[in-house]
Amino acid sequence: MADLSTQATLGTVPLCITMDPRDNVAIVVNDGGLPPGTVFPSGLTLVDKVPQAHKVALVDIPEGGEVRRYNVVIGYALKDLKAGMWVHERLLAMPAARELTGLPIATIKPEPAPPLEGYTFEGYRNPDGSVGTRNILAITQTVQCVAGVTDFAVQRIKAELLPRFPNVDDVVALEHGYGCGVAIDAPDAIIPIRTLRNISLNPNFGGEVMVVSLGCEKLQPERLLPPGSIAVVEQSRLTGTDSHATEAPLDVVCLQDDAHVGFMSMVDSILRQAEIHLTRLNARRRETVPASELVVGVQCGGSDAFSGVTANPAVGYCTDLLVRAGATVMFSEVTEVRDGIDQLTARASTPEVAEAMIREMAWYDAYLSQGRVDRSANTTPGNKKGGLSNIVEKAMGSIVKSGTSPISGVIAPGEKVKQKGLIYAATPASDFICGTLQLAAGMNLHVFTTGRGTPYGLAQVPVIKVATRADLAKRWHDLMDINAGTIATGEKTIADVGWEMFQFMLDVASGRKKTWAEHWKLHNALVLFNPAPVT
Ligand code: CA
Repeated sequence: MADLSTQATLGTVPLCITMDPRDNVAIVVNDGGLPPGTVFPSGLTLVDKVPQAHKVALVDIPEGGEVRRYNVVIGYALKDLKAGMWVHERLLAMPAARELTGLPIATIKPEPAPPLEGYTFEGYRNPDGSVGTRNILAITQTVQCVAGVTDFAVQRIKAELLPRFPNVDDVVALEHGYGCGVAIDAPDAIIPIRTLRNISLNPNFGGEVMVVSLGCEKLQPERLLPPGSIAVVEQSRLTGTDSHATEAPLDVVCLQDDAHVGFMSMVDSILRQAEIHLTRLNARRRETVPASELVVGVQCGGSDAFSGVTANPAVGYCTDLLVRAGATVMFSEVTEVRDGIDQLTARASTPEVAEAMIREMAWYDAYLSQGRVDRSANTTPGNKKGGLSNIVEKAMGSIVKSGTSPISGVIAPGEKVKQKGLIYAATPASDFICGTLQLAAGMNLHVFTTGRGTPYGLAQVPVIKVATRADLAKRWHDLMDINAGTIATGEKTIADVGWEMFQFMLDVASGRKKTWAEHWKLHNALVLFNPAPVT
């Protein structure tokens, strides 16, 4: 990791960060970049103006030579590069993706890290054993057609009912674009369907599932939530008999039902059903639970070259703390880890986990090639402006969010996570699609890093946003929850920010603190991943 020990605090001192001693490029730290002629403490003199977060050649690199960052070849020089030159994406040829054969399988066996004990948060324990961090009534929809009516009803629920249920945090319509006009029997349709099902069962909703359906849609309520999917445990406390699972009847308001005469009759039906669920949710109480009940989804978006230097390594440090505390941490974003597949398969706890990872990568390679692209389609204009030349460089910075723990499980898109430890949850990298799939996996807390800046938020779980640069943290002071830019300037270490994040997560999970996205009620739409055909 970056050797920041010798660096002075930011001021007029020109700074650059090298991620590995074997690298032949480093990135410029100073706000606004540095002009040609700048001399670094090492004696290196800039030939070009180099923008902040962009790369400078540390030595002469011949045409065709390897350009290394994170001790990984991120590209080959397209012409002779002189020490002190700005190394941008137009000067690099991208390496081919690593083949999915001959990979190291479960070769890294780290010494088990000592358990982190005694950390707790105040959460809502659910009948199925999961724990929520918020108490929310979620209204599931089978089809986009009902979105307007549901939204109208939700506004009335918030105005007329919610004030009577002070223990309930919010009412959220699970709006999406699926349900009608889709090839529902296509094999890959299982992905959007199980995503919606599992989101309805997210721990923050307390098992109170209510569905609004149109009536004629492809995705019928029984297909979305078949018998058995929302079994609840009922305890006969009076008789002291063993608890047993009983089937909860699916609560569906169907708009095309003959009983509905006029729009207001539909709205009244939704309000009447909502009140039943609100009454039960209102009885929920927070209780002290171990930190192992956290299910954290980590993600990055609007990344820059600092993402992999500051915020993501701090998230990685925090990921290791969470795993040591017995929690579940999911990292995702297939195209942003594809170029590091050899690191991941090596870290798999068993050969089966490595094989599952390879299977997910192969599926995604095929999915992309169907659209005649590959993982290189991932990088955005903003990424490049932020100094990330290509997906290889971006992936090396993204993968560090996973920390150093062994990877103990893999889930496919839309599946629910069922184990503790570090889990690879395969998802697209698109922020809302990844967030939607991590919600389905059962996430009760979300951590999101950004360098370019995004006001991203979700209505269903708290989203903690981490800025990669102090400049962004200052400008977006009321949107960013944690400033990891202090790592680049040497004011704080990766461990300092990792611990700060860990403590903040326990506070947010307990409801003692709110994230800025919650404060402003900023949230993005649920966006389903539907690789199946639309008719
Ligand atoms: Ca993302």
